[in-house]
Amino acid sequence: MRRRQWLAAGCGLVAAGATLAWLWSNAGLIEDALLETPEAYPISTAPPYVVALDAGHGGNDSGACSGQAKETLLCEQTVDALYRLLAEDAFFKPVRTRENGQDSSIQKRVDRVAEQRAAVLLSIHMNSDPSTAQSHGFECFPTPPGRKWSEDSMKLAAAIADQMGQAGHRLRGSSGIRFAYYSGKRKLIVDAEDSRERTLKSFGILENSPCPAVLAEQCFITNSADRAAWTGTEGSEKAADAYYRGLCAYFGLEPYAARTPPQPTPPPVTESWP
Ligand SMILES: [Zn+2]
Repeated sequence: MRRRQWLAAGCGLVAAGATLAWLWSNAGLIEDALLETPEAYPISTAPPYVVALDAGHGGNDSGACSGQAKETLLCEQTVDALYRLLAEDAFFKPVRTRENGQDSSIQKRVDRVAEQRAAVLLSIHMNSDPSTAQSHGFECFPTPPGRKWSEDSMKLAAAIADQMGQAGHRLRGSSGIRFAYYSGKRKLIVDAEDSRERTLKSFGILENSPCPAVLAEQCFITNSADRAAWTGTEGSEKAADAYYRGLCAYFGLEPYAARTPPQPTPPPVTESWP
């Protein structure tokens, strides 16, 4: 039903003609509108926790650009660093939603998350503000209120924002956590305190994720201080460490380096069926 409504909306926009420019320039949004959430699966509550890592954009879609900086390459660099941290920790099993250098539709990405039966999805992006080089800081977007995975997505967002703050990043808004919605070609961003349930759609990868999900905007590539601190080899490793610590906190684990032998006993195997 939802799909039919969105299809109808899409056709209406095509018929209107005047909105064609918007359709063209927001092709991703239209794609999002046609997405289908993969079938539900049991989310494992026992380690190893499968963490789906989604590097934003890819292939011909380089995302935002600023000088030499290309968003998608920076996303991949951070995902690589986070993948390594998670792979070294027996409590986690990282998986990617796409290979580096390749593009992938949002539908393929969420289908991949479901195939891997991920416990959480973290989509990593870089922010940009072409209007001013002053905008800076970290913000992340959990699945919005009223959706199936809202509460857990919010917990994951809070854990990650907390670690970013501890690592010295500026948190945008009141807490670095926000909700994003699209209304036609307008994008509405509200701070997490505004927990009103809205029917407006958020990012497709959040709306259609089969598990708790957070989309992070790591830093502004249009801000030189952000770029210096949070991209490149050191910056991506610092960001990856904060994401890793946030994931540990979400799953109730000490970070690997802080665990003293013997390793903590894994929690009993239980499964919750969505
Ligand atoms: Zn992006």
